[in-house]
Amino acid sequence: MTKNSVIGIDLGGTKIYTALASLSGEIIAEVKVSTQSALGVTGVQQNIIWTVEQVQIKAGSKDQVRAVGIGVPGPLNVNEGVVYQAPNLGWREVPIKQILEKALKLPVYIENDANLAAIGEHLRGAGVGVRDLIYVAVGTGIGGGLILNGQIYHGAGFGAGELGHMTIEPDGRPCNCGNKGCLETLASGSAMVQKALDLVKNGQGQSFLTAAQGEPQKISSYLIAQLAAAGDKEALSILEAAGIALGIGLANVINLLNPSLVILGGGALKVGRPYWEAMEKEVSRRALQAAWRQVRLIPAGLGDRSGLFGAIALACQNETPDVSRRTS
Ligand SMILES: [Zn+2]
Repeated sequence: MTKNSVIGIDLGGTKIYTALASLSGEIIAEVKVSTQSALGVTGVQQNIIWTVEQVQIKAGSKDQVRAVGIGVPGPLNVNEGVVYQAPNLGWREVPIKQILEKALKLPVYIENDANLAAIGEHLRGAGVGVRDLIYVAVGTGIGGGLILNGQIYHGAGFGAGELGHMTIEPDGRPCNCGNKGCLETLASGSAMVQKALDLVKNGQGQSFLTAAQGEPQKISSYLIAQLAAAGDKEALSILEAAGIALGIGLANVINLLNPSLVILGGGALKVGRPYWEAMEKEVSRRALQAAWRQVRLIPAGLGDRSGLFGAIALACQNETPDVSRRTS
């Protein structure tokens, strides 16, 4: 029997999203489970393997898989298949390619998750046919992927596209990366929550505390967005400040790379219009006019499947020699 399918895996800090797809990238079966990163590398690895088995059972095609593509949240070495660091998973120096190839007895290809989301959007989403685009994921943190000249740009050590860690505020809040005032500490979902918590700590932001039923740990970016929509001024100013910070970061990137498209994805974008409008206004104020005139800022076209489609494409491209190797 010819092997006519691949498996794509989007491994996130909270969810593992796995799909079995045809060689042309059509999804046949998919499954989403909790990552359970607290279980450590072995536990997460077992969860990944379980999802791979499940999609094969669902699709009824146990022996037809050619290869597996997986996106991991963190810097990694694509060639060696080693994840250097994945803070959301608690991983350091994990040879995930080798581990999964041994367990699954299939070729496994790895890539940074934001890079895969950029590839997914470029091949099937909002960026089809666009040669130079930037994908920005705004969630708990901020990640990015660069498609330049129609190809993913890795940089010298596979570290390119980490726009969440460009400095926006020189003496700002400490970031997980060790720097201070990174974009991620000002514009991400967790940055918005942190701002609300700071207000509560200083005896302000009573509306946050009330909405969270007196439990600060229940304050989420979603809750802040709800309050803003109801006209709460403090909530609104948190969303606007975060949007302005994102706009500053994007203006820098737009001036550097002159893309024709910036695609924004990730859960924190659901906070809504005040965030988006503040971002767009700030970009228009700061970006060089020539670059600003050529760029469009749009939401992701594949929703939470950008990375999944990228992972499928990664497996397909590595296993079908006649397709150009966009990810090399
Ligand atoms: Zn940082």
